[in-house]
Amino acid sequence: MFDPVTDAFIGGHWMSGPTRFAVTNPANGVVIAEVANLGPVQTVEAIDAAEKALPAWSALTAKARSAILMRWNALILENTEALAELMTAEQGKPLHEARGEVAYGAAFIEWFAEEAKRSYGHTIPTTASSKRMMSIKQPVGICAAITPWNFPIAMITRKVGPALAAGCTVVVKPSEETPLCALALARLAEIAGVPAGVLNIVTGTDAAAIGQVLCDDPRVRKLSFTGSTEVGKILYRQCAGTVKKLSLELGGNAPFIVFDDADLDAAVAGALASKYRNAGQTCVCANRMLVQSGIYDAFAERLAQEVGAFAVGSGSDPDTVIGPLINDEAVNKVEGLVNGALEMGAKALTGGARHDAGAQFFTPTVLIDVTPQMEIFSQEIFGPVAPLFRFETEAEAIALANGTPYGLASYFYSQNVNRCWRVGEALEFGMVGINEGLFSTEVAPFGGWKESGLGREGASEGLSEYLETKYLCFGGVQ
Ligand code: NAP
Repeated sequence: MFDPVTDAFIGGHWMSGPTRFAVTNPANGVVIAEVANLGPVQTVEAIDAAEKALPAWSALTAKARSAILMRWNALILENTEALAELMTAEQGKPLHEARGEVAYGAAFIEWFAEEAKRSYGHTIPTTASSKRMMSIKQPVGICAAITPWNFPIAMITRKVGPALAAGCTVVVKPSEETPLCALALARLAEIAGVPAGVLNIVTGTDAAAIGQVLCDDPRVRKLSFTGSTEVGKILYRQCAGTVKKLSLELGGNAPFIVFDDADLDAAVAGALASKYRNAGQTCVCANRMLVQSGIYDAFAERLAQEVGAFAVGSGSDPDTVIGPLINDEAVNKVEGLVNGALEMGAKALTGGARHDAGAQFFTPTVLIDVTPQMEIFSQEIFGPVAPLFRFETEAEAIALANGTPYGLASYFYSQNVNRCWRVGEALEFGMVGINEGLFSTEVAPFGGWKESGLGREGASEGLSEYLETKYLCFGGVQ
């Protein structure tokens, strides 16, 4: 691991801040760094810096901005091992997953560096012979990004990549649980030649106060947030005063449906990949396993066999499959949901309790005989627990799957092509994995329906979130 950068980054300067806060390793509670603790005053300074940098950055050609972003992408990839070790130390995920996130995160910078050169407007067939009409795309302006701890690099690059490519400047507020990856990214951006003030990182523990400044300041024209639906709703309200553009990537409650006609091996493999990655702490993790009666027992047995064999431990151990949860609160929540289900008649085929690897570990779990009346049906678990619900008909499965205010990810397994079309179209979710447990990529639109959010990240849609459309009408043409 390279020495972590621990000062905040504003206007091209590294700032030690009025106080410091501790960042701990969730695997063992050891303090790994003391980071600059900024507040509202420094947040205004960061917006000032972003304002100062905006005219020159937005005036560069897309090709010039793209070249700088490509250098940043290359530097991130060159430092994969060091970044992955840093991520595992502050976030807890196994090293092989951390390496994967570095590559995935860098891919957004590369993708948007390429896309920026293709942000076309339109020429519009005129409605009057004396007029000529066209639309052009221009950067939104100063953007704010508030990001969570579960993907400390990718959740930042999915926002900063398109913002910078479009010609915007950015103020990022990373989670206080994982500020070190954000600061390391900023250091590499500085080396890559991103000019002072174009990217600013405000680290701090008073998220509400920092968020309030970012929402209230009329100079900030867009807020992009990834995190819980609860906080997303607060920010949505706070942004009303200045009518900011908003991207909200919020919580999920993903159904994972296994029909009787599924390929059992593929369904089990997909369930393992979707449910247990990052110890179950992803917004697209399968949250409710809906399994048809005819395949229920076989699926449950196979899944439990695989899950029971998972190695649990520190993410830095190369054999580890399941690392720690992010904090005590997370472990308490998972334990409460599992106990609630067990008390109401569910059974643990494997796991079902905390793990003795340490205070923040939970044993990978498979629960059977779970019913929609149990709290675990409606709550985002965010832990390594798969609850298996039984259903009889396709209509019942669709009703159960859609019976949630969330609409982020969904999955189903079936070998019947007609069913694949029917169910794929009936699910009220922004993303559907059909016989596939992993679908996230920079080239496809990521985002949710209903209370899972607004807007899309990745793909060409991801760039348009940072662009305004301007209509130009030339009159008096003879
Ligand atoms: P969170 O508690 O909502 O926090 C997310 C970010 O918001 C953090 O930086 C946090 O800062 C900050 N924050 C907290 N309260 C705030 C406030 N009042 N005003 C402004 N900012 C505030 O969520 P989390 O626990 O970190 O992340 C887990 C959640 O994120 C899950 O619900 C998950 O589904 C969702 N998620 C969604 C996606 C997606 O793409 N849809 C991706 C990943 C995660 P501090 O951490 O410093 O308190």
